[in-house]
Amino acid sequence: MSRFDAPRRVAIVGSGPAAMYLASHLLDRPEVPHQIDIFERLPAPWGLVRWAVAPDHPEKKLVIDRLFSYTFDRPELRFFGNVEIGSDITHQELRANYDGVFYACGADGDNRMGIPGEDLPGSWSAREFVAWYSGHPDFSHLTFDLSHPRAVIVGNGNVALDVARILTSPVAELAKTDIADHALTALSRSQITEVVILGRRAAAQGAFNNPELEELAHIPGVLVEVDWGADQSADAELSWAAQRKLTTLKDFSSKAWSPSAKKIVLKFLSSPVELIGDGRVSQICLAANQLQTDASGRVSARASDQHTLLETGLVMRAIGYRGRPFAGLPFDNKRGVIENRQGRVCANGETIPGVYVCGWIKRGAQGVIGSNKKCAAETVGRYLEDIADGATPVLNASLEAIPHLLDKRGIRYVSKSDWTRIDRFERNAGRATGRPRVKLTTSDALLEATL
Ligand code: NAP
Repeated sequence: MSRFDAPRRVAIVGSGPAAMYLASHLLDRPEVPHQIDIFERLPAPWGLVRWAVAPDHPEKKLVIDRLFSYTFDRPELRFFGNVEIGSDITHQELRANYDGVFYACGADGDNRMGIPGEDLPGSWSAREFVAWYSGHPDFSHLTFDLSHPRAVIVGNGNVALDVARILTSPVAELAKTDIADHALTALSRSQITEVVILGRRAAAQGAFNNPELEELAHIPGVLVEVDWGADQSADAELSWAAQRKLTTLKDFSSKAWSPSAKKIVLKFLSSPVELIGDGRVSQICLAANQLQTDASGRVSARASDQHTLLETGLVMRAIGYRGRPFAGLPFDNKRGVIENRQGRVCANGETIPGVYVCGWIKRGAQGVIGSNKKCAAETVGRYLEDIADGATPVLNASLEAIPHLLDKRGIRYVSKSDWTRIDRFERNAGRATGRPRVKLTTSDALLEATL
């Protein structure tokens, strides 16, 4: 690797885990010095760690103080929050000002069920609900009707379990967390006593992780019921992880639960076929499924014509997030990712020099926070190979060009010191009430806290 006198200048779009691991990997290479500018659409950093990690999982947010903040505070890194790439600054302008442009902007769309009634009021994506209770400024204004005793969640990944916990946990417990105040108020009035989580395949194919599954048994005042469906896979053919989850589910089935006011039902081999209601969801029609295995061993669900109706006022699909196309960048619609090979963005098989991706917009919406470490290492690895090969541009653009452009356009951007003020404000507000922080939940309030 050759030595450079002037640092390489790179832009990272996004400030979530993928972005912060990218920055950390780039700054860990003293032989190739870097000056990094992070662009974030919202006035606060940390992406999904701030706007999606469940408030009752504070341990998953420790990565902010233990890792992200250390990288964020490095003098070689600048932060431009409240700046949207694509409108405030274009992709072409980034290309003209940075030797490397890295997109780590996540997956902010979601999959659809594609069934009749999906757009009725009362039918939501779990992504919206999660963003709402996390105080995301784009979702804080939403109103969820929690007045029906039963909510149904479609899909049984970790997002489904997060949503089920938040809907059933005692409000007194949630009040100790950084959950958005508006969500706390709405949940304190909730009439929901039963949450049904639908898995289209059998228990052995549940998409949840075992620790998250086990956690359901520890929600005070909530019992967990398992509805196995007709089919059951032979345990012997299953992976260790699947067997572990089955054991947990069997423990739920055999446990003598104390009488509880609320319950979570894990219902397997069941798919929604229609949401029914006059002006809003009042019922969900479910088909009982059977399993089928193809030649590659992939187990899928096939709906039977055996249908049942469940009364409900709230349906949330937790069937996976999806990346959205980005103006000026090639997009793989099928996978919902920016087209890339190991992090190098490419169009029609040709690499676009100097443009890279990382995180969910690179590999699809799968994996936990730590998965981004390996993902970022791969992208940075390809980028460093390109530098060594002389395949990336060296522009020597001025450090002042971008702040100057933002000022000229009247964009009120959030700097690192601005974020420090917001962070301090939220933590101080939390300290007064024994919470980790009280989140500011609108862009205006966040910007005001910088003054
Ligand atoms: P996910 O893990 O991909 O689970 C999606 C679920 O939706 C699966 O059960 C899937 O069933 C089901 N599904 C997909 N299409 C469906 C359809 N048309 N009808 C019915 N069901 C359908 O997605 P996720 O829960 O959104 O999580 C995304 C990622 O974030 C995951 O990697 C997850 O581990 C991670 N995450 C982690 C945590 C944590 O660490 N605590 C918390 C939240 C999220 P099939 O399996 O049959 O496809």
